[in-house]
Order: sequence, then structure tokens, then C-alpha cells
Amino acid sequence: MCLYPKLVRNPKYRVNKKNGGKVPPLKDGRVAKVPIGCGYCYECLKKKANEWRVRLAEELKTSENGKFITLTFSSEAFEYLKNQVKPRKGYMLDNEIATYAVRRFLERWRRKYKKSVKHWLITELGGNGTENIHLHGIIFTENVDEIERIWNNGTIPYGFVWKGKKKGRRVINYVSERTVNYMVKYVMKLDEKHPNYKPKILCSKGIGVGYVNSIGFRKNGYKEGDTKEVYTTSNGLKIALPIYYRNKRYSEEEREKLWIEKLDKGVRYIGGDKVDAEDDETIEELLRYHQRLNSEWGYGSPETWKVKEYEEERRELMHEKRMAKLKEKKERENTDAKCYEEKGTRSPEKSKMPKKALNELTEARRLMKEMGINFDDIEII
Ligand SMILES: [Zn+2]
Repeated sequence: MCLYPKLVRNPKYRVNKKNGGKVPPLKDGRVAKVPIGCGYCYECLKKKANEWRVRLAEELKTSENGKFITLTFSSEAFEYLKNQVKPRKGYMLDNEIATYAVRRFLERWRRKYKKSVKHWLITELGGNGTENIHLHGIIFTENVDEIERIWNNGTIPYGFVWKGKKKGRRVINYVSERTVNYMVKYVMKLDEKHPNYKPKILCSKGIGVGYVNSIGFRKNGYKEGDTKEVYTTSNGLKIALPIYYRNKRYSEEEREKLWIEKLDKGVRYIGGDKVDAEDDETIEELLRYHQRLNSEWGYGSPETWKVKEYEEERRELMHEKRMAKLKEKKERENTDAKCYEEKGTRSPEKSKMPKKALNELTEARRLMKEMGINFDDIEII
């Protein structure tokens, strides 16, 4: 349960588009308000990470062609994209750029193959230098080279694509449940430099939908007082049924019944501890205890939103730093070119060109290191 829950009026009992102004009668006063999560605390993030872990593991059962990749942006591309998106600042700009670029990438893919490519991507900010935004995730395709090609064949090439371990001429890239666990950790990642940054998940609809045809899903069916609202993992662990499946399995009415049944049982869970739902004192105490832990561990909360402004300003500085570096680079290239023109020799940039065939694995390792990813942690067999 969220450590900073907020109670809001239940939209079901308000005039809305769905009910066309006909508000249903409230049978149980306790459901007049609904608790909503803050989306920042570790309980909220853990829940989100678990949901994706399950859905992606389910997806892997039917899709065997997943490729674990990293998509990056060059400073040139960042500058270009900045001018394509709505004017934004700080983290919003980062996420806006990533979203825009992925959308364009998918469009180009669709144009070529007449259908979209299944994907699950998450944004991350780097830990070094100008802490550049990049994306990690899975793209479901047989052709891993195509990812790189299409990422870079728009108006401007976007940047380096890490697409697997090189073995001779072959690229080896295979996604397993372990890769999924590794990737989903980004959802819960404690980003010390950017504690208020919210990674954005960009993904296809229906990831893991295959579960609805399973025996497990059938067993989840509503049964008054005895509904098995659980998901059984591959190693037999029973965990909460992800919201995505819950919404597919139960009607709105059944969901409300399940909620009331839970309220009747009178149990609440706070940070994994079971408490009596009526015992306000213990609840308050436990919440405060876990909230303290939450901030000690460095996770966000509504309280830290005050420092968010400072963090956003810092992020702006990073963007400016990156653009300044780019300007400097362009100016340097210009003067270099001029200088060589005068002397009638080729610029060093050009003479370097044949060397392009430098060891790609070393380059990938360098980039991954820069992004704070341990190359050896990634399971690519
Ligand atoms: Zn929360």
C-alpha cells in the first residue's frame, strides 16, 4: 500500500461521461472515496515494477524474438529534437524528446513493414558527464540490425544503439526472464542524482495479454468470499494479480465487491506488515515509520516535491551544458576545417574516417559504463 495515500471521491459516484449523468446509488458508504497512490514512494514503485515483471514474463512465453537494446541520443540529435517538441524544461524535456523520438522510430518502422513492432522501453538519465537521457528495453523482432538502421534513418540520426554482444561477426542477443528482472529494476532504481526523476515507460498495448488464455486466469474468476486474486510466478510464488489482468478479469461491479470484502476482513498491509484496518493508531505509526525509511532510502514522496524545483533547475543546466559542448565542438570543427583548407590538407576528421571499423565491443562497453550499466550483469547468451 502507498505510504502517502490520498483519498479522492470515487469517480463512479460522480457525474461523468461513462455514466451519462446517471449516478448509481451508493450501497456502502465506505466506497464513496477511493485511496490513490502517490506514484513516488517505494511501495508504489515496487507495485509498478512487479506489474511489469509479470507482464513481460508473460509476453516472453509467446514472443521468442525479444531483443534487449539501448537507444541513445547524440548531442546533435538532442539539439534537433529539442526544436521539434513542445517547449519544455528539465525532466519534462528529456521525457518529451524520448517519447517523440520513439514515436517517429515506430512510424518509420510501420511505414516499412506495414505493421508496428512490439516494444517495451524505459527512459533513464546517465550518471556521468551531461547525464544524457537514453532508453533501455526490449524490441520484439528477428532483425536486430533493423533497430539500429531505423533509429538512425530519419531527418537526423538519433544516436548509438547497443544491440547485443558481438561474437565475431554475429550479434548475440537473447531475452530471458533474468533480462526482464534486470530491466524492470530501472522502474525502482534509486537515482541519487535525480531522485525526483520519473522514468517514462513507452510500450505497445497488450504486453503479456496471453495470460488471459491461461488456466491461472481462469482460476482468478470471481467467487464470492473466495476469489483467488493472485498470480503464480514461474517459481511458484503467489503475488498480487497485476491491475492489468484484474481489470480484464473482473467487471466494475465485481471489483467493488472485492473491495468491500477486503474492507470487511479488516486487514491492511503497510510496508509488508499486516495491521487491523480499524487500528488507526498503529496504522499512523507504521505509515510514519515506513515514510521515514522511504526518505532515508532516497525514494521520492509528496514532501520532496519542494526540492523538485531545484532539481529541475539543475537539469536545465545539464541541457545547457550539453548544448554548449556541442557548440564548442562545432566551432572547433569549423576552425579546424578552415585551417586545413588553407594548408590544403584533409581535415583530421576525414582522415580518421577509415578507422571507423574500430572495435565495436569496446565502444559498447565504454558507453554502457558511461551509463552506469555493468556489461557483465546483462544476460545475453
Ligand atoms: Zn506511494
